[in-house]
Amino acid sequence: MTTAPGDPREFKKLLDRKEAELSRSLQKRDGITIEKSPDQMDEIQSASERDLAIRNVDRESTLLRDVRAALLRIEDGSFGTCIQCEWAISPKRLAAVPWAPLCIECQEAADRDKYEATESLIDSLVKVA
Ligand SMILES: [Zn+2]
Repeated sequence: MTTAPGDPREFKKLLDRKEAELSRSLQKRDGITIEKSPDQMDEIQSASERDLAIRNVDRESTLLRDVRAALLRIEDGSFGTCIQCEWAISPKRLAAVPWAPLCIECQEAADRDKYEATESLIDSLVKVA
């Protein structure tokens, strides 16, 4: 049996692999520790490494959530449809980002919102520090 390009089963294989990869990588990073060092430079260094690690975990958790949601959409047959405007997501976009929940228009709008939200979050973090 052959599968056409854009066949949900092909995407399922891809998404299953991605899910396994992300789960593994997140498990490995479970033990981010705060290291105390007498050397201030070291402390700054390890603090920024920790920040970077936390940001990576953040990014990977979000990605893992998207991948799992996409697998669920394959199950219920709504895969390939934008969850916001319910238009078809372009095959080109799905080929590049199989776990994309949104069409490109909705994604761009969401990115703008998220960027603004992140900016204000950083602002408030800076104020707290
Ligand atoms: Zn949309």
